[in-house]
Amino acid sequence: MWEVRGKRWEKRLLWNKAKKQAWHRGHGTPGTPQKHRIHRTQVLIIGGGATGAGILWDLTLRGIDAVLVEARELAYGTSGRCHGLLHSGGRYLVKDSEVARECYDENQILRRVAAAAIEDTGGLFVYLKGDDPDYAAQWAAAAKKADLPYEEIDVAEARQMEPLLSGNVQRAFRVPDAAIDPFELIVMNVRGAVERGAHLLTGSRVEKLLTDSRGVSGVVVKDMHSGESYSIEAEVVVNAAGPWAGQVAALAGISLEIAYGKGTLLVYTQRLNKCVINRLRPPGDADILVPAKSVSLLGTTDVAVQTPDNPRPSQEEINTLLKLGEELVPGLSSRRVVRAFAGVRPLYDPGESGRGASRGFAVIDHGKTHGVANFYSVVGGKLTTYRLMAERAADLVAAHLGVSAPCRTRDVVLPPPLDACSQGGDSSPLICECEMLSEKELLQAAEKLQTVTPEALVRSTRLAHGPCQGTSCLYRAALLLYREGYLSYEGALEFLRYALAGRWRGMGAVLDDAQAKQLELAQGVYLETFGLETLKNEL
Ligand SMILES: Cc1cc2nc3c(=O)[nH]c(=O)nc-3n(C[C@H](O)[C@H](O)[C@H](O)COP(=O)(O)OP(=O)(O)OC[C@H]3O[C@@H](n4cnc5c(N)ncnc54)[C@H](O)[C@@H]3O)c2cc1C
Repeated sequence: MWEVRGKRWEKRLLWNKAKKQAWHRGHGTPGTPQKHRIHRTQVLIIGGGATGAGILWDLTLRGIDAVLVEARELAYGTSGRCHGLLHSGGRYLVKDSEVARECYDENQILRRVAAAAIEDTGGLFVYLKGDDPDYAAQWAAAAKKADLPYEEIDVAEARQMEPLLSGNVQRAFRVPDAAIDPFELIVMNVRGAVERGAHLLTGSRVEKLLTDSRGVSGVVVKDMHSGESYSIEAEVVVNAAGPWAGQVAALAGISLEIAYGKGTLLVYTQRLNKCVINRLRPPGDADILVPAKSVSLLGTTDVAVQTPDNPRPSQEEINTLLKLGEELVPGLSSRRVVRAFAGVRPLYDPGESGRGASRGFAVIDHGKTHGVANFYSVVGGKLTTYRLMAERAADLVAAHLGVSAPCRTRDVVLPPPLDACSQGGDSSPLICECEMLSEKELLQAAEKLQTVTPEALVRSTRLAHGPCQGTSCLYRAALLLYREGYLSYEGALEFLRYALAGRWRGMGAVLDDAQAKQLELAQGVYLETFGLETLKNEL
């Protein structure tokens, strides 16, 4: 069992109260205060995605003192921009049966320990007339050989499960896919660790690795809110920076061959399917439709890019997704898409790139490979295998520190992402109807944040992530946060500016004429009413 309100959590609440008063007095965004700065730890982990959060949780359960340092907010990187599919392994069955097995095993473990972030939707692999029949046969044979519980079912049964499926489906297999919420998963890992004494620093970019005669001895962190830099000594530093892992390794003069594969996803205004629908063919564009809470996500593409920063969906990718999605689910190209977004895959497969690159992962001990001791990188992989990646990394780190405690993340159930207000009788009004977020939940999230930034609020609550994309909730949220003292007047406007820019950028690319007019009206109302004219330049 987890501690629902550990001492550290309470301490943070007290600090938040003080901070809240400072905001109320209009002092602007506070940086991490000096008294909360950490100057020494056993292990410092760089990167607040699923991998870094998983490592923090694993090390903490082994009794190792650890700090997670994230440049922006939790889930800012690829983890927060992915499809949210808890793979059953089917997608990798033909190309890499080992990765397929890893996915299946992790799928089963996560259903036990992270159930609060998972919806057991189940999944289908469907073979369409015209696709390569040899691939379907190979896939079916590989499934049998791997002894994974994939079951061929009648096409009629598949169509009963998913009535919108194409009439061209000729074979269908049922698989244990599921939908997983990456935001909740990460928060659960970090919350569990923090409640047991670990530390989280968000808005803190690692800018330099410190070294001494023994190897890496710590980092220099820049507080992105105050602009100040300071050092944290660490016995071990773990690089879990996802697609930025190459940049972090370069701080130690190490060259890591990370390939960047941009993937774009479309978000529909409605939930169109009950289970995950996969197209049974060699992995390609637009072959997975995932139901995610109140919406469905179609993806992805795979485009080689030069940088992991600011991935944007291109019109060409959107057109490809709509065209190919139509083959899987007729009518998909004319259904209302609320927004498009993109993420960058951190692929580690020296010599290969794009879909040819392995979805496997590597934990690199740079002491052995590059002569830089006390420094490890965790690269490649996927959300589904984050726990296993964390376990392998933590095994090496624990051995390095002489700690013999074994991994416990297979068995210890993670705490829920937020206290469930509704269970305690949350009668406060809804602030975001699409995501069913109440006023109380929003304030509770603000209370728990280390620094109340617009980015942190939107990411931790999923405010404005539903079909209306913030049109009817953001001004109410800004007002509430201002009234309750979490945001100053300027902070509330900044919150609106940040949240609206993010939503509108994703919407602009996918609208038809009528929708474009609606967006223009919403923009007019917001820009005029709140005097946010400068926002136009950010779109
Ligand atoms: C479009 C797309 C769809 C996908 N869909 C799925 C899916 O459905 N299922 C699945 O299993 N996998 C999926 N994946 C893969 C999966 O999302 C990633 O492999 C996984 O989320 C990577 O997590 P991570 O923690 O390693 O990296 P990230 O989530 O990118 O985290 C790295 C973090 O490091 C931080 N950082 C970087 N530099 C610094 C620094 N100097 N100091 C401090 N912090 C720093 C970043 O801000 C970032 O938050 C998908 C990937 C893409 C691109």
